Amino acid sequence: MIQPTIAKRDVTMHILQTFGIHMSKKLGQNFLVNEQIVQGIVAAAMVKADEEVLEIGPGIGTLTQGLLEAGARVTAVEIDRRLLDVLAKTLAGYEKLRIIHGDILRINISEEMPCPKYKVVANLPYYITTPIIMGLLERRLPLELLVTMVQKEVAERMVAAPGTKDYGALSVAVQYYTKPEIMFIVPPSSFMPPPAVESAVIRCLVRDEPPVAVSSEKVFFRMVKAAFSQRRKTLANALKTTGASADMVKAALEKAGIDGGRRGETLSLDEFAAIANVWQQ
Ligand code: SAM
Repeated sequence: MIQPTIAKRDVTMHILQTFGIHMSKKLGQNFLVNEQIVQGIVAAAMVKADEEVLEIGPGIGTLTQGLLEAGARVTAVEIDRRLLDVLAKTLAGYEKLRIIHGDILRINISEEMPCPKYKVVANLPYYITTPIIMGLLERRLPLELLVTMVQKEVAERMVAAPGTKDYGALSVAVQYYTKPEIMFIVPPSSFMPPPAVESAVIRCLVRDEPPVAVSSEKVFFRMVKAAFSQRRKTLANALKTTGASADMVKAALEKAGIDGGRRGETLSLDEFAAIANVWQQ
């Protein structure tokens, strides 16, 4: 340990006071102040020495320090310029660290992470959780896994099974690209300031191949979006929002062997794939 442990209430308070930092609610700044949670995240990510890790939003370096102590090579992307001076101080002496000042939704991640395989580990800013996760997955980056802190409710949606209230387009997309698993729940008291909601650490193991064969991913996700766009409608009606005629929808559902009277949220990935694969558009 080169520096004192940051994941403590008094150390965090001291750092913030020293640098005169007022945390920004707008940027989702809720810093971890619980060492066990940091260790839990590092363990969930199964970080080994010299593995490449992309961290989103290092803040004052709390989780970053845990990753570096485990021997990872960390590239950390932080949007808040004020925190760059803080990080230079709190993580001084760690040689396997590279800090990038930027917006994770705008930087060219492939350029910044040219390595053949890497892990994403982050305590995410909650205001952009879904665009970050979907952006990483849709770009087909060479990720081995993602271990992220998210709102508990979002974690539940990511792992939800068909027919449950949490099942939606996010569940299908995350389960198409990864095998997600909720690792543990984190109470608001583990953060400074405490967020209004409970959080969860979720691990998503990125699949080499999707679990279902689809001839066009574009069509597959168009079906998923349409099916969930009108949750109260039957599948046959919801699919008409794609612009297809009633006859076309009926023919496709018959061919796929799926009852159009069902609700979209009862469909498994296999069933969405079956419809997408006979869709004539
Ligand atoms: N990793 C630290 C921890 O665990 O205590 C801080 C986590 S805090 C929940 C989220 C961090 O993401 C903040 O430092 C915030 O400034 C940063 N952030 C917010 N929006 C961002 C964006 N678009 N790109 C990169 N970082 C962002």
